[in-house]
Amino acid sequence: MDLLKKKILEEGRVIGDGVLKVDGFLNHQIDVDLVYKMGESIYEHFKYKGVTKILTIEASGIGLACMAALFFKCKVLYAKKSATTNLGNSDLYTSHAYSFTHQTQNTVLISKKYLDKSENVLIIDDFLAHGEATNALIDLVNQAGAKLAGVSVAIEKGFQGGGDKIRESGIDLYSLAVIDKMNETDGVTFRKM
Ligand code: 5GP
Repeated sequence: MDLLKKKILEEGRVIGDGVLKVDGFLNHQIDVDLVYKMGESIYEHFKYKGVTKILTIEASGIGLACMAALFFKCKVLYAKKSATTNLGNSDLYTSHAYSFTHQTQNTVLISKKYLDKSENVLIIDDFLAHGEATNALIDLVNQAGAKLAGVSVAIEKGFQGGGDKIRESGIDLYSLAVIDKMNETDGVTFRKM
């Protein structure tokens, strides 16, 4: 999506070789007009897939998920993150995701009440890097016996491999921008699509 790529080039900041800061429009302050258009672009890709629910993860995925949900006219469920690994609550589906950015192991959880086998789920997140967060969300969808319509992320860091593994597994992954290379000196290089 050209508008997002332009914004990343103008305002994104590369930290070391692995982290892109987009706090000015996505991860802290939100450029609502841009994120609304991102939601519309996601809708254009998945509009014939019969999406009934959007699943994301707190906190940074929620804004984009809500904008997309306006187009799909469906509800957004966001998985909560918890530092505790052993919740033992039978009302919850739980999975695990290691965060390379924060170097923490997170338990991600949703209430069984809000996801069941009648749903056709679209997973949305802000970033896809190694695929830990996305795969934990896919695991929750599978535990609920729901269908997976696909996955969409704002920014895929292609050089960290998570996205290509998801594509290889046959899942429809739509990334609004895929970064193939980035560093502090040369900035960001996008994958040609
Ligand atoms: P993964 O689980 O795919 O390795 O990483 C995805 C999650 O880590 C996202 O939900 C996002 O919150 C965070 N993340 C990964 N890479 C970046 C990055 O370069 N910048 C920011 N702001 N967050 C990232």
